[in-house]
Amino acid sequence: MSDKAPLTKNTNFIRNQINNDLESKLHNSVHTRFPPEPNGYLHIGHAKSICLNFGTAKDYDGRCNLRFDDTNPAKENIEYVHSIKEDIQWLGFDWNGEAKFSSSYFDIFYKCAEELIIKGLAYVCFLSADEAREYRGTLKQPGKNSPDRDTSIEQNKALFKKMKEGEFKEGECVLRAKIDMSSSFMCMRDPTLYRIRFETHHQTNDDWCIYPMYDFAHCISDAIEGVTHSLCTLEFQDNRRIYDWLLEHLDEFNKIDRPHQYEFSRLNLEYATTSKRKLKLLVDSNHVSGWNDPRMPTISGLRRRGYTPESIRDFSERVGVSKVNSLTDISILESSIRDDLNATAPRSMAVINPIKLVIENYPNDEIESLQAPIHPQNEEMGTREIFFSREIYIDKEDFVEVPPNNKYKRLAINKEVRLRNSYVIKATRVDTDDAGNVKTVYCTYDPDSLGKNPADGRKVRGVIHFVELSRAIIAEFRIYDRLFLDPNPAKFDDLSTSINPNSLEIKNGFVEPNLSNAKAEKAYQFEREGYFCKDSESEGLVFNKTVGLRDTWNQ
Ligand code: ATP
Ligand code: MG
Repeated sequence: MSDKAPLTKNTNFIRNQINNDLESKLHNSVHTRFPPEPNGYLHIGHAKSICLNFGTAKDYDGRCNLRFDDTNPAKENIEYVHSIKEDIQWLGFDWNGEAKFSSSYFDIFYKCAEELIIKGLAYVCFLSADEAREYRGTLKQPGKNSPDRDTSIEQNKALFKKMKEGEFKEGECVLRAKIDMSSSFMCMRDPTLYRIRFETHHQTNDDWCIYPMYDFAHCISDAIEGVTHSLCTLEFQDNRRIYDWLLEHLDEFNKIDRPHQYEFSRLNLEYATTSKRKLKLLVDSNHVSGWNDPRMPTISGLRRRGYTPESIRDFSERVGVSKVNSLTDISILESSIRDDLNATAPRSMAVINPIKLVIENYPNDEIESLQAPIHPQNEEMGTREIFFSREIYIDKEDFVEVPPNNKYKRLAINKEVRLRNSYVIKATRVDTDDAGNVKTVYCTYDPDSLGKNPADGRKVRGVIHFVELSRAIIAEFRIYDRLFLDPNPAKFDDLSTSINPNSLEIKNGFVEPNLSNAKAEKAYQFEREGYFCKDSESEGLVFNKTVGLRDTWNQ
């Protein structure tokens, strides 16, 4: 990516807002943040948010912070902190300064809570969870004031201090903002600001037993860091009222250039889930091999599958930013990677369902070295050495004894095809096993057809791929299908209802010898088969299928 603003990029309502704010001099520069909770690995939805936050900052020569929103120690874990950093960097972005943690502002949050208490704007509430729910009212009915709403400021100060000192049990009380129990926005009905949790935190250990709620911590963290545009997903639209209310009632942060929140629609991808909770369930219940299973819509899963950072950034650009929730067609993601790899992936030949083929008019003890282009449209990528001899492997799918019709272009008895990068062959007979399955195909070859059409003007329409038998290297191929059967698995409470039992198919076949030193995650186009990359977690030659050569979902 270039360092300077490609301002020809798709515009969107966030860029329009930023342009206005810069023009009116409300802000001199743009400062965004990406605020993951370290409670799981990042997924493709996060990638959209990363591209938006880091990408926008970059385009405007601004800054983007990485801030771990670590206010819920029960679900968080340092492993996730590491994976999140790695995934962001792999996507090609870097954060402003050190990575930040909401937990490093715990002292400030505490002081802000005290300020609200002193202003008569927060109180300690002893309603049980059930009572609080009942008091909150409904969309049609206003809520009722908590009996603790009028506790004196002095008492609230003392009670909050006792909360902090661990003198109350978990769930016994919470700190709430005193806003409006009859607000038409449920979230403004005296929202909880702090709750008690006796949990060890991965950053602050046992220093605290009270933890701030997201709504309280988020706006203050943004303000502390000087964020200008706080971008989040649409489900926080109503919560924007709390965001504004809190910053407007805290002296230090109630400034004209304080941060503002803007909401965009979440990315929901067909045949996938973008809920960390549900992804964790898939991992914990062994439906997949881990967070980076190549079927997972996580960034690490897509990476292991063979997706490139460029393709994911391109996908984010293609889906754009809007305020309309929708289900994104998986073919958009797949065409992003296909377009990238079509231009860059070296070509190679792999036989996934091997069957032996013997060329009876080829000398017994000869092996021929041939040159094949690494990329047919890009000569600069050079050539690779392949081999040819009397015995080769072809794919079972490329042979039938009797062609089904005149249009059949692959190999059949008495029919000619070209072997890719090599000679024209004609099948003559087969060997079968006891069950009648073809074991070996016998052929003749035309020695005068290497790199040219047969001399007598015979037309050979079909081309099939092959690997020379004695030099072929055994490889495993992992062919993936969608992880879910339903395009919108989110509609099932129990995700396992929609799991595709055949989402992974393992095949054993052969690749060209020069793939013996293939690098993990580097993509190849196996001609006529699709894009594959070597698996990063396996010993030996195991190839993950990234995507087919063309869109087959909709056929
Ligand atoms: P959870 O799934 O645990 O409820 P979350 O999806 O909100 O959490 P966070 O770690 O809080 O995950 O998300 C970090 C940022 O990524 C937030 O700003 C959030 O809005 C954004 N984000 C999360 N999921 C998506 C998505 N599907 N599409 C776009 N942005 C997303
Ligand atoms: Mg969240």
